Amino acid sequence: MTAQLLREFDVIVIGAGAVGENVADRVVRGGLTAVLIEAELVGGECSYWACMPSKALLRPGTALHGAQTVPGAQEAVTRTLDPAAVLKRRDYFTSNWQDDSQVKWVEDTGIELIRGHGWITAPRQVEVAGLDGNSYVLTARHAVVVATGSAPNQPPVEGLHDVEYWTTREATSARAVPARLAVLGGGVAGVELAQAYARLGASVTLVARGGLLGIFPEQAADLVAAGLRADGVDLRLHTGTRSVHENDDGSLTVVLDGGPQTGPADGPAHGETVTADKLLVATGRHPALEGLGLDSVGLAAPEGGTLRLTTDSTGLVHQATDNEVSGNPWLYAIGDAAGRALLTHQGKYGARATGDAIAARAKGELTGEPAPWSRFAQTAYEHAVPNVVFTDPELANVGRTIAQAENDGFRASTVELPIQVAGSSLHAEHYEGWAQLVIDEDRKVLLGATFAGPDVAELLHAATIAVVGEVPLDRLWHAVPSYPTISEVWLRLLEEYGL
Ligand SMILES: Cc1cc2nc3c(=O)[nH]c(=O)nc-3n(C[C@H](O)[C@H](O)[C@H](O)COP(=O)(O)OP(=O)(O)OC[C@H]3O[C@@H](n4cnc5c(N)ncnc54)[C@H](O)[C@@H]3O)c2cc1C
Repeated sequence: MTAQLLREFDVIVIGAGAVGENVADRVVRGGLTAVLIEAELVGGECSYWACMPSKALLRPGTALHGAQTVPGAQEAVTRTLDPAAVLKRRDYFTSNWQDDSQVKWVEDTGIELIRGHGWITAPRQVEVAGLDGNSYVLTARHAVVVATGSAPNQPPVEGLHDVEYWTTREATSARAVPARLAVLGGGVAGVELAQAYARLGASVTLVARGGLLGIFPEQAADLVAAGLRADGVDLRLHTGTRSVHENDDGSLTVVLDGGPQTGPADGPAHGETVTADKLLVATGRHPALEGLGLDSVGLAAPEGGTLRLTTDSTGLVHQATDNEVSGNPWLYAIGDAAGRALLTHQGKYGARATGDAIAARAKGELTGEPAPWSRFAQTAYEHAVPNVVFTDPELANVGRTIAQAENDGFRASTVELPIQVAGSSLHAEHYEGWAQLVIDEDRKVLLGATFAGPDVAELLHAATIAVVGEVPLDRLWHAVPSYPTISEVWLRLLEEYGL
């Protein structure tokens, strides 16, 4: 029998991904009550279909290749990857798609969980069609937080609607490695999964309308492209996709747009179709705001467009009804749903700031907008978002590229070098890497940094600290990298700059 249940909480969080969990945790720590509403698995995309399984699929290949590049160890490598063991380890890292441990954490933290689909019906009011058959009408005394994540884009490719294809969900949760995989999209997810499957034995073709990893400096992206090619991935760059159809044997044929658009070396030199057993479409994501009832509080998509939320530094949604920062604001959006940087760590950072801001506003400890870099403001989104591409070689980047710095009005310069230090030559035979700093010429501080090469991801946090801390370069000069580590590239970069 179904019932309509009326409940009141201080804070209602729609979506129990990593970001929703973190905001609920912070408001509870701040002395408020919170409910999480979740339609699928507690833990969200990252735990079950994104970060964890994709990294679990990549890591064994990187470890094996790492051994193969070190004489003395390479002689011991006598076999290739064991796909069944890799998939089994991936299953472990996704907890076999069971969320019991995360549910236990929610309960232990003092957060209430309602499983079901939620939507906003009025300011501070949310309805939930509970998976238990009940319908809930919830009222928030202080805030409603939209933490609903993102959904995959579907590119306008003829026939795509009519075939069964993989999104990143199917690619990260597959039970077997296809013999042939076609990947549409040259962004982070497409590139990572292309390499993971190539190393697991699939014959992989990656088709991208533009270049590979276009948001990163070209020299860095080129190293990743070389790594993929070395693994046998057939890269069809600067190539559009016209249509897709299924063949009698169940395989799929992707028909590509004619000749090369730019860069003859990158154009489709291998004919105009790709036939594969599976097709992964990884052409970006958009905030998951459909069916959330946002129109009930004055937030509608523009004519012919899609709804995007704009938020202040605490995550407060502009333009929602009755949501003035000067009054008693109530609607917040964080994580992928806010559409700023679709990354778990950054969403969780935003969640901590938003949760603390909600608790502080409830207690009257925060009025108006907080100062930049206060614990309530998500200032790092403007200056220092770290991003790692977990391919082999890795690509790690934080802050502004030179193009972004100039676009934002900085008088900026760059210094760049191949990574050639004692630490890198010890790390692997023929180590190839590249590093770049972007420097604010007026303040002589770092605006951004990029590293590409085997195992550079762990270099990134030093750069993040330097950017966030606005450490002057002549003070950074005194941060001595240990010998012989890859971090010595920092010293070489500063010397190259003239210190
Ligand atoms: C293949 C892939 C690999 C990635 N790898 C990395 C990585 O290595 N590192 C990294 O930092 N980021 C990575 N990301 C990005 C990362 O997964 C996201 O940034 C992160 O999951 C966002 O967290 P979230 O909590 O905002 O959203 P989600 O994790 O998507 O959680 C949102 C939750 O809300 C629920 N929900 C939605 N609507 C409703 C509703 N109306 N009612 C109730 N519940 C609802 C959903 O079921 C979901 O559980 C990757 C993404 C992909 C696709």
